[in-house]
Amino acid sequence: MIYTLTQPMSPSPGLHSAGVSPVVSPVVSPNVSPVTTVSPMSLTPGIMHLINYGDKDLGLLLSQRMELVWHGEFERLFAQYFPHSWQLIPTFNPPTDGWRIFKDSAKVRFSCQDCGHGWTSMKGRVIFWFNLNYGANSGLVMFKLYGQQCQRCKNGKYEHAMWYPEEVVKVLGNVYNRVGQIYYGFVRPPLRIDRRAGKPRNQHNAELCQACKDGLCREEWSFS
Ligand SMILES: [Zn+2]
Ligand SMILES: [Zn+2]
Repeated sequence: MIYTLTQPMSPSPGLHSAGVSPVVSPVVSPNVSPVTTVSPMSLTPGIMHLINYGDKDLGLLLSQRMELVWHGEFERLFAQYFPHSWQLIPTFNPPTDGWRIFKDSAKVRFSCQDCGHGWTSMKGRVIFWFNLNYGANSGLVMFKLYGQQCQRCKNGKYEHAMWYPEEVVKVLGNVYNRVGQIYYGFVRPPLRIDRRAGKPRNQHNAELCQACKDGLCREEWSFS
């Protein structure tokens, strides 16, 4: 079973409105601090046991647990922004004006659903869009994971990226810190740029990469 992104829900009208007021004085909660380094020991046991699998063993187990890892880690981090309630939503249709945009990269794994060919890429791309609605005390983080085509089939179909749990933890820590920088007074919070070890044999093929096709693959990180 391959984890596929659920269809995006439409965000509440309040959050979607273009009239997002600029941050004048961010509310700094004394209990909130940036994520610095995440050692494996600090991960919850539910995530921990997934990390020691080699590339070859990953497939099924990882994809089945993927949604759990994304949402579990997000909840763990963003609960610290209480009383604001933050929500993580996958999307295929990025929002337009008034959203902060953060792009991050990771080592990811692909598996072709037609021929079974598997490959690893250091250029797994994720884009987050986030926005805090002060009036509603709620924030939204939308994200899109970019796919790649199978080089054997070249069938025009982008396979979904399978994300290693430690890479999910990394990028969620990074977006948590960017949110903190914008809304909670974090001063130059760290950005983790490490990758899971191992060098894929294959070169990055722009023809087969969805992020390349959208013109979003060139830099490893961006924030605006
Ligand atoms: Zn294939
Ligand atoms: Zn690319």
